[in-house]
Amino acid sequence: MTSLDRLIANTIRADVRAVSSYNVPDSSGYIKLDAMENPYQLPPALHAELGQRLAAAALNRYPLPAYATLKAAICAELGVPEGYDVILGNGSDELISIIDMATASQDRQGARSVVLAPVPAFVMYQRSAQFAGMEFIGVPLTADFALDMPAMRAAIASHQPSVLYLAYPNNPTGNLYDAADMAELIDLLGDKGLAVVDEAYEPFAQTSFMEHLPEFPNLIVMRTLSKLGLAGIRLGYMSAAPALLAQFDKVRPPYNINVLTQVAAEFALEHIDILDAQADTLNGARTTLSAALAALPGVQVFESSANFLLFRVADADAVTAKLASAKVLVKNLGKMHPLLAHCIRVTVSTPEENTAFLAALTEALTS
Ligand SMILES: *Cc1c(COP(=O)(O)O)cnc(C)c1O
Repeated sequence: MTSLDRLIANTIRADVRAVSSYNVPDSSGYIKLDAMENPYQLPPALHAELGQRLAAAALNRYPLPAYATLKAAICAELGVPEGYDVILGNGSDELISIIDMATASQDRQGARSVVLAPVPAFVMYQRSAQFAGMEFIGVPLTADFALDMPAMRAAIASHQPSVLYLAYPNNPTGNLYDAADMAELIDLLGDKGLAVVDEAYEPFAQTSFMEHLPEFPNLIVMRTLSKLGLAGIRLGYMSAAPALLAQFDKVRPPYNINVLTQVAAEFALEHIDILDAQADTLNGARTTLSAALAALPGVQVFESSANFLLFRVADADAVTAKLASAKVLVKNLGKMHPLLAHCIRVTVSTPEENTAFLAALTEALTS
């Protein structure tokens, strides 16, 4: 052991040392269909004006930590109910950390507060809970990716979770849970637990719990601009009852949104119709791609309300490797959870990229 190894062993938590870093593969030269990015950009006609706005931003100053203008634009454009505000995160990933940090606790006997989520789920729910020192409980979905209601009710009764994460639609499965089931679970948590409805794919699903905030005091609705087309600027937002939101705002690092993100997001929200039209285009492309996948022999494609499709093949490892050698990057989920055996997730992209993916997949399935 070197002295640096000893230092790490003496200072860094064992559970942190044991995990590997969040893996992002090198994608240069690939058709990138692994991360649910919007393939379209803002139109070139808008670039000069955006450039001028960014150039005018006061890079020498800290951002104003209230972010009043941007928050007002989000509330006005994105359907936040009257009387409700949002707080902003450096991506919704940061908001998940903030929620977990604010709720994590441990009693004298060492029992830790619990994060509950149906699984398979977005990996950050587990990671963030672990890093905050919370216990993560995953309750398997049914074979058709619905909430297993008896198991969810039992898990809430026995674990008393502080936080329940429900992605709506779910990643990586793509489906929407039954809204009445979700409402029942949110009610069941009552004043003992928070329910976070993660609507990262809301631009594609076109259904939301946002308007239901006033009905549930323990509901937090979380969204992001990432999947809508602005993954690069890193901006997430969440809304909840104002008194609850104020608690999370204490945990948020005061200047967490940088001035360039602030300016770019305000600009994009002025042109939200362009982003919405891109989402409509991608929804149309999803229908086409889904039908084409279903027509391939040996492929089972699942229902999706997001900008990606989950499908099953006979050998996901072989197919993923063949796609990679054809320079197409998808996400192999076969090892993530037993319910996802031999499943692959592909982002819906432009007609050209979808066609190239289908050609490479057809080749991979027959070679
Ligand atoms: C992509 C994704 C996020 C992360 O969004 P960022 O705002 O880019 O951090 C959150 N939740 C789900 C379910 C996602 O798929």
